[in-house]
Amino acid sequence: MRFSGWRVLREGLTGNRGWRPHWRDAAPKSEYDVVIIGGGGHGLATAYYLAKNHGIANVAVLEKGYLGGGNVGRNTTIVRANYMMPGNSEFYSHSLRLWEGLEADLNYNVMHSQRGQIVLFHSDGQRDAGARRGNAMINQGDDAELLSRADLRRMVPYLDYDNARFPIYGGLLQRRAGTARHDAVAWGYARGASERGVDIIQNCEVTGIDTKGGAVTGVQTTRGAIRARKVAIIVAGRSSQVAAMAGMRLPIESHILQAFVTEGLKPCIDHVISFGMGHFYISQSDKGGLVFGGDLDMYASYAARGNLPMVEHVMEAGMTLMPMIGKARVLRSWGGIMDMTPDGSPIIDRTHIEGLYLDAGWCYGGFKAVPGSGFSMAHLVATDRHHPPAARYRLDRFRTGRGLMDEEGTGSQHNLH
Ligand SMILES: Cc1cc2nc3c(=O)[nH]c(=O)nc-3n(C[C@H](O)[C@H](O)[C@H](O)COP(=O)(O)OP(=O)(O)OC[C@H]3O[C@@H](n4cnc5c(N)ncnc54)[C@H](O)[C@@H]3O)c2cc1C
Repeated sequence: MRFSGWRVLREGLTGNRGWRPHWRDAAPKSEYDVVIIGGGGHGLATAYYLAKNHGIANVAVLEKGYLGGGNVGRNTTIVRANYMMPGNSEFYSHSLRLWEGLEADLNYNVMHSQRGQIVLFHSDGQRDAGARRGNAMINQGDDAELLSRADLRRMVPYLDYDNARFPIYGGLLQRRAGTARHDAVAWGYARGASERGVDIIQNCEVTGIDTKGGAVTGVQTTRGAIRARKVAIIVAGRSSQVAAMAGMRLPIESHILQAFVTEGLKPCIDHVISFGMGHFYISQSDKGGLVFGGDLDMYASYAARGNLPMVEHVMEAGMTLMPMIGKARVLRSWGGIMDMTPDGSPIIDRTHIEGLYLDAGWCYGGFKAVPGSGFSMAHLVATDRHHPPAARYRLDRFRTGRGLMDEEGTGSQHNLH
């Protein structure tokens, strides 16, 4: 089923009777070439690129809940490529380029909106660091512009320039950054994978990973055993728990990240704005809600809900930056479990068990990575070689100390990244 303007018109005129489910609700078979554990953005994208780029379609995506119920449906949808460190820089650049062709590739409206992201500076030191980051982005082939305070006053007049606790000195703008509709990204990849023959199996929790002689042989699930030559663990906040099924102890801590949305308002914020003096960032959804979030809850937890001190912290930061936000009523808040690595950068690698692969550690930035991660992970699973943009995401860097990518410069403390 192809989507087009003509199709929408025809369905509208004929009672919308021609639409079909976007993917097959498959039942598990006893054996696959590849089993992907986790039906989030990364798992679905991996399945899609395995089928599309490598012709490997005898694949099952096993999701313990419903598709899109994890972080892929809980994030604040920011898509950007403003990383500085070698390793991250080329990976996120590749991912952003995939985003730019994604809707045409998937024939699916993921509402990718390149409205621009502005990261604010509040001191000379932050401006210097921003300029350095901007140069790194440009060297990578991406766009970056340094904005003065006067530029900002013109572009985003609603910020508090006169009485702010942390005066605004300027900002770093990436015009190609923006947002996308998160659920649609999951649905679009699911549809694309399913059309190519991948089985997407919901309500199927993996409870064990089978190995023999140092190689993976399959998984145990709540819907029976499934054999597979290759198994990929792509479960975001549950990475440590699932890897433990194969006897692995990952360098990951799980923390909660919260987000908030207000009632729908008329268009008032037309960029993504990130505060530089605290964790606060905001954009406006197409429905009009102000979508904003802050820092991690600082203690490790698997509870996918937030705590009140962080609510207070985020609201305070928002009020400091743009007092007008105080007039909006918060509609909902929610939390998601983040798989935080000690250097804040992810892992796309083989494991010590033959045929067992790991894609994890996306911290709170993994939504924008969905296309890039799926592309690189599919390449690794299919060829057993690292895809160049993701070649530095090796698991053993946490053992050897070589090749760490501490983008935030905060040292090896998971919850500070
Ligand atoms: C509040 C919040 C805001 C965020 N904002 C942004 C943002 O603006 N930009 C950005 O880039 N990133 C953001 N992120 C991070 C991003 O959402 C995640 O890094 C990314 O979605 C994680 O990858 P995923 O989509 O594959 O995860 P998930 O959607 O969580 O997928 C993993 C899946 O694995 C399944 N699973 C787990 N265990 C098992 C099992 N045993 N068997 C079978 N299935 C299993 C889970 O049910 C889940 O569906 C945010 C996250 C949160 C919570």
